[in-house]
Amino acid sequence: MQRYFASLIDNKIELSKGDIHHLLHVMRARRGDQIEVVAEQKAYFAKIENISPLVIKVVDIIKEKSELPFDVTLIFPLAKGDKIEFVLQKATELGVKNIILINTRYCVVKMDQAAFEKKKDRYVKILKEASEQSHRLITPNLYGVFSIDNLPELAFSKQNFVADERLSNKGDIFPFTDEKSPITFFVGPEGGFAEEEVQSLVKKGFTPISLGGRILRCETAAIYGLSVIGYYLENSEQ
Ligand code: SAM
Repeated sequence: MQRYFASLIDNKIELSKGDIHHLLHVMRARRGDQIEVVAEQKAYFAKIENISPLVIKVVDIIKEKSELPFDVTLIFPLAKGDKIEFVLQKATELGVKNIILINTRYCVVKMDQAAFEKKKDRYVKILKEASEQSHRLITPNLYGVFSIDNLPELAFSKQNFVADERLSNKGDIFPFTDEKSPITFFVGPEGGFAEEEVQSLVKKGFTPISLGGRILRCETAAIYGLSVIGYYLENSEQ
């Protein structure tokens, strides 16, 4: 069933213009059809009571646990081709709350603030569509473009890990604390981290970690790390 993010005003569902177009002209919805909507971080079954004017009414709440129990923040480097779009989509499916795009010394791609602002609408559309598809109750927040020396406050969680490929097969894979808590996961660029960058992150409270004995592409490292974090946070036995 199609799902939309909406606002709920006096029990009436208000969709964005783009979603109304999608509902009526792409999905060709009819009076009486049911859709799923997400409003104020809750999911509902809703029914189309009237097409013109469009009236959608909440029918029932959908009980689902699609959000991770603690906030996860991914710090991801400017990367080539469509890697950023790919990671935005996968990180959303894997439950991330915040995504911070970062420029580090060996980033092959450069993107200044103006270029990021130009791309932001497209990036946010990817986040929204991935949130609807994966039945998330929120759309991840996107921030950019930062550097290691000017990380925003929200980049720091209770547990902060930086994936350092030099540790591959030597360091720990995520030495999580027993008490679960919000997590930040920082991945380096195609060109890897400079030694001083990792040292500076350690001073800021990041723990360098290995992701195993293979050298992963930055997008693979992001997906692998977020998968391990999701398993740790959602697995009650952990
Ligand atoms: N130095 C790497 C190389 O030799 O190709 C380039 C960096 S790797 C392509 C991209 C990023 O993924 C790294 O900066 C690191 O954050 C992460 N990464 C990849 N494999 C890793 C591993 N085995 N352990 C820890 N981090 C890894």
